[in-house]
Amino acid sequence: MAFQRLRGFRDITGADALAFERVEAAARAVFGRFGFEEIRIPLLEEKQLFSRALGTETDVVQKEMYEFDDRSGVRVALRPEGTAGVVRAYLENNFDKTHGWTKLYYLGPMFRSERPQAGRLRQFHQIGVEQLGTDSPYADAETVHCLSVFLDEAGASGYAIKLNNLGTFEERQLFRRELEGYFAPLKDRLCEDCRARLGRNVFRLLDCKQEGCRALARSSPPIDGFLTDESRRHHETVLAALGRAGVAVARDPYLVRGLDYYTRTVFEVTHPSLGAQDALGAGGRYDSLVESFGGARAGSVGFAVGLERLVMCLSADGAPAPEPPVFVVTLGPAAAEKGFELVSTLRRAGVRASMEYGAKSMKSQLRAADKHRCRFAVILGDDELAQGVFVMKHFETGEQKTFPLDSIVERCRKQSLTD
Ligand code: AMP
Repeated sequence: MAFQRLRGFRDITGADALAFERVEAAARAVFGRFGFEEIRIPLLEEKQLFSRALGTETDVVQKEMYEFDDRSGVRVALRPEGTAGVVRAYLENNFDKTHGWTKLYYLGPMFRSERPQAGRLRQFHQIGVEQLGTDSPYADAETVHCLSVFLDEAGASGYAIKLNNLGTFEERQLFRRELEGYFAPLKDRLCEDCRARLGRNVFRLLDCKQEGCRALARSSPPIDGFLTDESRRHHETVLAALGRAGVAVARDPYLVRGLDYYTRTVFEVTHPSLGAQDALGAGGRYDSLVESFGGARAGSVGFAVGLERLVMCLSADGAPAPEPPVFVVTLGPAAAEKGFELVSTLRRAGVRASMEYGAKSMKSQLRAADKHRCRFAVILGDDELAQGVFVMKHFETGEQKTFPLDSIVERCRKQSLTD
């Protein structure tokens, strides 16, 4: 029996692979402009790293990690997200001491054993940035600005950014108790998932997608009443700075995030074309994470965008197709050998070039050129070879011209029959 890929895992091919490449190139260009450097972190880490970072009560840690004992008996897990690994690397490489304020970005696959559905995979890809060692609200604004410039340059439009302030850990404790008090008498009206969440992580009730729970959540007390002046000021500065940077965000006092580590600023970017799983990316500030990993306190903020979802909401006609190759058609054995040499020379010189191998007929070679949507063919027969020339043919007009062989690179680069 032929092998099949695992459920929730996919092959990325053709136009999708090209779209991934473009989005990654946009990310590198934009993040570099904002002063972020790339970090490549391992796919596999100690499981403890993720439970410590994300919180033992979160869905990801409770039921979604690919975890196993390695050959030496260490409990390891495939990374379900990037922040935990980046924080570990920041401390392990002493960036807190050598760099101070550190700005890093990563991209690559993440693994969560969730129920596969549209927009939800078990291996998916994230692109994310992290700023470590800064408490400034301007860093929050810069991070959200960076997200929006990245989405724009990746070719996305029509997305919306929501932002909220969850307060500090202490402020959130008070808020948590208030929310638990509010929802406890309403338990019978909550969905099954929310009833379970009530005792574990009451904040998750606020982003339940069920209509009944949503209505109750919308009448729950907002966090604003529990924020200290300092948290409020932080929030106001972030919003004002975003205004200065020209980023439109909507304040959503009910926006919470599934992971425990967020403090103060949280944000989410959604796209209407994504359906039920409409979150394109999300992020926020996590001021206690570095400390909980054994480092000195280092305020931090970051975001992660899901590549599959981003690619899904890019308009199919938005991306220009790559330049078609020049097709080298050969007639006769000596020309076939020379043809291979020419294709190799063209490619080394930076020109996209293609040819068919094996003594194929002219017709079959032209069919292949058509399949590649080539506009030009270089035709090389043993006669041309003997005269030191080649024929260049424009497929659409049928026009063809003869040029000296030593001008082939220049001519193919121009892809034109006229000077
Ligand atoms: P999170 O780390 O859960 O905040 O997710 C950040 C982004 O990663 C989401 O907005 C999605 O775009 C993407 N993402 C998260 N989980 C999945 C998944 N299972 N499949 C595909 N994309 C995902």
